[in-house]
Amino acid sequence: MAEVRLVDIEKKYGNFLAVPKQSLTIHDGEFLVLLGPSGCGKTTTMRMIAGLEDITSGDIMIKGERINDKPPKDRDIAMVFQNYGLYPHMTVRQNIEYPLKLRGMDKASRKDRVMETAEKVELDALLERRPSELSGGQRQRVALARAIVRTPSIFLMDEPLSNLDAKLRVTMRAELKHLHHELGVTTVYVTHDQMEAMTLASRVAVMREGRIVQLDTPKKIYAEPADLFVAGFIGSPSMNLIDGAVKGGVFRTDGVEVPVDLGDRDGVVLGIRPEELEITQDTDAAIGGKLYALELTGESTLVTLRNGPTSVCARGHADFEADIDSPCHLVPKDGARFHLFDRASGERLR
Ligand code: ATP
Repeated sequence: MAEVRLVDIEKKYGNFLAVPKQSLTIHDGEFLVLLGPSGCGKTTTMRMIAGLEDITSGDIMIKGERINDKPPKDRDIAMVFQNYGLYPHMTVRQNIEYPLKLRGMDKASRKDRVMETAEKVELDALLERRPSELSGGQRQRVALARAIVRTPSIFLMDEPLSNLDAKLRVTMRAELKHLHHELGVTTVYVTHDQMEAMTLASRVAVMREGRIVQLDTPKKIYAEPADLFVAGFIGSPSMNLIDGAVKGGVFRTDGVEVPVDLGDRDGVVLGIRPEELEITQDTDAAIGGKLYALELTGESTLVTLRNGPTSVCARGHADFEADIDSPCHLVPKDGARFHLFDRASGERLR
């Protein structure tokens, strides 16, 4: 059981508290994604698991054993980093082979194992090249191959796709997903890309200022964000977050009137996802204003309307057309979900 437990771990750099005291259990075989904006402590958390960073206080347990003082090489962890960390003087073959050599595997077995792994990531034709003779995506695959050439107890991946172009990132995402399905190795994956987190993770830990603010399945995080921060971070385009007040069971602000199940209250934020709204001809619709912008994305058109300070985006049909500044109305689709948050604390109300 390659379960990883972080127990009350805390990290300070001098007086700066990078990761406040918290606990996290990563289950055996799980693909756990640490997601958050730059500087929120993702890499620090990862480096503590790897043993590359001292822990200020707390314990790290792997397979039930406290490993705080174990050197990185004895933790049975394979890592993939953003900058690849390849050995420039070695060929692709030697790079991939290196971890096996380090563990004393015999030459014939090494050869077979390297070939098998290279085929998996489609590098078998490039084995004699050096990293400088490869594209970014190919280098990334060498780094990945070097990590998977042996089956460690744990994979740690820190933004492994961030240097790739958009298309390759999507391809590699599927590769990683397949690989995890195949190997079932406990994986901790760091990213600031919510799409990567949603598509890859068994569970996502959303971090903010060193703290995990929500730990849930991607589905749950999308459907029920714990607070305003998570609500705004997950989804593309992001959730509409509309400031207003509730009175007599109705949420109101300029251009918006929606019945909600909440007592009278000021400083309320109504959240609704663009994909859960549709354009209507009904001028009495819940949301109304003037058409502000149309953006064709290919499979759909993003429709933004404005009314005073209110701005609402909906995902409409690709063939939707209308004049900018013309009246525009939106209704929630059947089964659409309204989220309600407290403006001041950011907490979810419903
Ligand atoms: P990014 O996505 O930009 O890599 P991150 O979420 O991985 O960000 P960390 O690298 O873990 O963030 O950094 C967390 C915080 O700790 C940041 O505020 C950072 O400035 C600080 N920090 C990181 N390393 C050190 C260090 N060696 N000394 C002092 N502060 C540090």
